[in-house]
Amino acid sequence: MTATAREVGDPDTAAARIVVRCPADGRIVGSVPEMSAAEVHEVAARLRAAQPAWEELGPHGRKKHLLRFLDWILDNEDRLVGIMQEETGKSWGDAAMEIAVAVDTVNYFTKHAADFLADRAVKRDGPMSLTKNLRVFIRPHPLVGIITPWNGPLATPIVDGMPALMAGAAVLFKPSEVTPLTWSEVTRGWIEELGAPPVIACATGGGAAGTAVLDEVDMIQFTGSIATGRKIAARAGERLIPHSVELGGKDAMIVLDDADIDRATSGAVWGGLWNSGQICVSVERIYVQERVYDEFVDKLVAKVRALRQGMDPDGSYSTEIGAMANERQVQIVERHVGEAVERGAVAVTGGRRKDQGLFFEPTVLTGVDHSMLCMREETFGPTLPVMMVKDDEEAIRLANDSPYGLAASVWTADKQRADRVARRLETGAVNINSALTATMLIPLPMVGWKSSGVGGRNGGAAGMLKFCRQQAIVSERFRLKSEPHWYPYVPRMSRLQKRLIRLTGAHDWRRRLGLRGPK
Ligand code: NAD
Repeated sequence: MTATAREVGDPDTAAARIVVRCPADGRIVGSVPEMSAAEVHEVAARLRAAQPAWEELGPHGRKKHLLRFLDWILDNEDRLVGIMQEETGKSWGDAAMEIAVAVDTVNYFTKHAADFLADRAVKRDGPMSLTKNLRVFIRPHPLVGIITPWNGPLATPIVDGMPALMAGAAVLFKPSEVTPLTWSEVTRGWIEELGAPPVIACATGGGAAGTAVLDEVDMIQFTGSIATGRKIAARAGERLIPHSVELGGKDAMIVLDDADIDRATSGAVWGGLWNSGQICVSVERIYVQERVYDEFVDKLVAKVRALRQGMDPDGSYSTEIGAMANERQVQIVERHVGEAVERGAVAVTGGRRKDQGLFFEPTVLTGVDHSMLCMREETFGPTLPVMMVKDDEEAIRLANDSPYGLAASVWTADKQRADRVARRLETGAVNINSALTATMLIPLPMVGWKSSGVGGRNGGAAGMLKFCRQQAIVSERFRLKSEPHWYPYVPRMSRLQKRLIRLTGAHDWRRRLGLRGPK
């Protein structure tokens, strides 16, 4: 282990540990404990004990802690980006974007929480409610579990963790075993440096630790692969706890023949290759109309060739494309590219992994068809397969020919045409003349359609209320000794009630007045 390696927990205990390596050069950068179910249970019990006082603080009290937390993130920005970079192999610029996501998320949910969580008066409706006051209180699920993947070690726990905390829940996080260091450090900062209430904790470990978290919490938020998402949903079903699962994608980019090709190619490069393509909403397949196809491919290839690859030194912003986060992911990309090339596609640029580190060269594939893995399965890597299409119809048909439904993008100068295409796409988001963007706009919902998820995040109040339970409150408008429908039944009163129900509930005079109908 190097002198700078981060050791979370006591490395001298007999407990198993997970060693974390930097994907760019293989050096050990830290280790974390592989927590047992009993340890996860202990942590969960501590969180449960701390949660009522946190809820009691109300949104204004909790906001103070979250804004101090945001200050801490900004004061430690370079150190956090450095840890992220070491465990993911990202370029400095890609890692730094996660700080921007944190800033936006904390500010958005602290600003709006009091409104989102306010008691709500409900309008009376129907005779039963005439004598009542109707309200809804919003109460958090006491303990929320948040299980996350390795591609955004700061941003992903933040986007769900902040609304859950602002809602008044305690949160048990389970970061990926591939990148556990960033969130372990954030949790340490919250507890040790900020002395904030002990309502967050970090369970470290692999799938078994994830299952242990799932078995402790009152609501589970999962981000990761479809295969694991299914297991989470099934287990949550057995436990009868609510779940929200944000899963994989195969986002289509549709370039129509009137698009600005300079902007579209720049958008494809960033939208497809940011974070080495390891983003659920990255551009995974591109459909370009015949008339602009050659221009699009030429410009795309030139821009991809100009990218600099490598893990750049601290704060230098001197490369764009970093490493892939783990060997398994590199192998998936190799398989998709290899299969396409074997079946006649051309890697116009890139197409291979580098000799050192887990780097895969940014790759443009042409001559692909819809039976190839690179067009059907999530690649989650730095590839841009481009396919020529005849018209809008063919582009829409191919874009929808997928079990995934996370997001898509449409590129055209014609606003109406863009909306017409968007309305026919089977995805939870459509970016018009941009890529990845909807996900970063917290007031908009991020919802995976089809196999890309159940539930959703962000999107105003809904992004916070998913961590809450609604409590219906009914109280008396007038002081009455009894209610007309309470016991004992009095025939005269019951008949009067029957007439009243007809009079107020029926939709024609014959039924309102209880008259006999035609034979
Ligand atoms: P993964 O499903 O392998 O692992 C995700 C997390 O689940 C990890 O923390 C892992 O330890 C844990 N886990 C594994 N098995 C578990 C089990 N049986 N019970 C409980 N927890 C378990 O996913 P990954 O490879 O880490 O991440 C890549 C995937 O994440 C891609 O498919 C990507 O599209 C998806 N993703 C989706 C979004 C989104 O918001 N839709 C965002 C980022 C990534």
